Amino acid sequence: MASLTVETWQCDACGKESVTKLQCCGGCKSVYYCDKKCQQRHWNAGHKNKCKTMKFEKGTKKFETCTEKGDSRYFPLLLIYNTIKLYEK
Ligand SMILES: [Zn+2]
Ligand SMILES: [Zn+2]
Repeated sequence: MASLTVETWQCDACGKESVTKLQCCGGCKSVYYCDKKCQQRHWNAGHKNKCKTMKFEKGTKKFETCTEKGDSRYFPLLLIYNTIKLYEK
């Protein structure tokens, strides 16, 4: 039998949970929506002002993770990518 752990995604606009992966915001990729209507609603409700900041914060976090691991200049790109993915879990 398969694992009982079910990953769920929650829509940031209406709060509805889904067991199928939701679409994320193309800008910041930090928020999820069940459909375009929800995305539009959330965008107009204020996400348009937060999107860029969230994208920036996410990028900063990634950079910090990268530099914490030491001098990443000598790591192969794939290794860096895997390390970032590990830290995001
Ligand atoms: Zn929704
Ligand atoms: Zn966004």
